[in-house]
Amino acid sequence: VKDVLKHFPLRSPILGRKTGAVKAVDGVNFEVFKHETLGIVGESGCGKSTTARLLMQLIGQDTGELIFDGQVVGSPRLPMTEFRRQVQMVFQDSYSSLNPRMTIEEIISFAPIVHGVPKYIALERAHYLLNKVGLDPVRFAGRYPHELSGGQRQRVNIARALALRPRLIILDEAVSALDKSVEAQVLNLLSDLKKEFNLTFIFISHDLSVVEYLCDRVMVMYLGKVAEIGKAGTIFKHPAHPYTKALLSSMPSMDPDSRTLEPPLAGDPPNPINPPSGCTFHPRCKEAESICSVNIPLLLGNAQHQVACLLVNDKVGMSTPDASRPS
Ligand code: SF4
Ligand code: MG
Repeated sequence: VKDVLKHFPLRSPILGRKTGAVKAVDGVNFEVFKHETLGIVGESGCGKSTTARLLMQLIGQDTGELIFDGQVVGSPRLPMTEFRRQVQMVFQDSYSSLNPRMTIEEIISFAPIVHGVPKYIALERAHYLLNKVGLDPVRFAGRYPHELSGGQRQRVNIARALALRPRLIILDEAVSALDKSVEAQVLNLLSDLKKEFNLTFIFISHDLSVVEYLCDRVMVMYLGKVAEIGKAGTIFKHPAHPYTKALLSSMPSMDPDSRTLEPPLAGDPPNPINPPSGCTFHPRCKEAESICSVNIPLLLGNAQHQVACLLVNDKVGMSTPDASRPS
């Protein structure tokens, strides 16, 4: 993901003139490695879901580009239709995510049939996938979504996502609506399927304990930017960015010695229409200094761990002296 930026323009309802923009995703750079699970965390409104929709190309970015397996997405070598087949998404369970008038086998086979797969092959694969997600096809293929529990519907959503043989699956709060016991079963199912089908996951969640359990690397977002990214072990045991530290300190821990007891994060994120100057986290940051309202931190570090904090980067000799540098 290279310098991807998405601002949603705001228009005056009377004059139709552009009056500002919601800086939903404000220039993000990151990589997702083959066969890993990358977690994306942050408070609501930090740009997680917009990032997911950009990655799926459900919405287009204003600037920047996506590169998938060495090819620019949307270029002649990787047309959008082919990219969309390789990347699938599973949303939070809701009745609206499955067409209530279609049976489960019709739902799972729909996209392959649209892509030209003969119907009997698509149905055969739908039954195979139902088995894979732990739903007996004999019992479930002919049922309708309203006849299923939340956990069963989410298994159908996962089977549907697998139907086009994707390589990357984006899970946006995919287990958040489920009861804890059902959530654990679905998480185990996801781990098994990832291994079996050689998948790569992007796992978006507000639940840090689930992210710690499932993810290899973690990306922390704040107001449309990447605050910190690195190995899950590093992020959870040695967070560097003050925002990550605050997020983690609000997380209930089984091992109280492993985390500092800072008071949880105060207040809500600021308005993404008019984000604060300098480091956008400075009004809420416990470690902020005067420079923080002036200079914009860059995401710096090594391949394993990158942080966008002026003070952290200054300490390791990677300061950002040029205050006028655009983000
Ligand atoms: Fe806090 Fe300053 Fe670092 Fe921003 S740059 S996170 S305000 S210390
Ligand atoms: Mg969201």
